[in-house]
Amino acid sequence: MNGPINKQSVVILIGPPGSGKGTQAELLAEKFGLFHLESSKVIEEKIKNADPNDEILQKEKGLWESGKLNTPELVLEWIKEKAKEVASEGHGIVFSGSPRTLYEAEGEMPLLEKLYEKDNIKIINIELNEEESIKRNSKRRICKDSRHPIPNFPEFENITKCPKDGSEIITRLLDNPETIEIRLQEYANRTVPIIDFLKKRNYKIMETNGEQPIEKVFRDILEKIN
Ligand SMILES: [Zn+2]
Repeated sequence: MNGPINKQSVVILIGPPGSGKGTQAELLAEKFGLFHLESSKVIEEKIKNADPNDEILQKEKGLWESGKLNTPELVLEWIKEKAKEVASEGHGIVFSGSPRTLYEAEGEMPLLEKLYEKDNIKIINIELNEEESIKRNSKRRICKDSRHPIPNFPEFENITKCPKDGSEIITRLLDNPETIEIRLQEYANRTVPIIDFLKKRNYKIMETNGEQPIEKVFRDILEKIN
């Protein structure tokens, strides 16, 4: 049932803020030629190209710019649209921030199963305890141009430019201590239930310990999915 990863695979990474989902997704995308589908980028793309006369999109733009959550129904539609586009181009997908809620999981899984077949969909749960998540998020950095996450590991501590595109590194405003608590709570209440949903749908959830160094987590993921 669990065949190796290839260009027709889908990998879904689940994990709390700071678990390194984005970093692992980038590594998987690079190694297997998968498209890294990030909800934030999908939303940003929609909003950047929003027609000034499109009232719905303008309202979403306002939400986005004020840091509020976009309308779940629309975000789900946009993610599904993007998944269809990527599938039609013949690429697999690695997800690092979606599904984020049961609502998204219920909407996305049937489509992904139709596009890629269930056996080609791998689910990885990157575990990280709350204390470590808070510690990592309290100094989370991203690059200004492409929002590449700068991993919170010693080997990246002293860099000042993004290793991928050389752009400036900024600290995400989202990540002050109260916001982290809220995000962790949201994760526990809204994202963790996805795991049960997927188990009931007969998915095997592969688990890895997110406290390990990046390379080790990556090797662990490769061993488990292949
Ligand atoms: Zn960058």
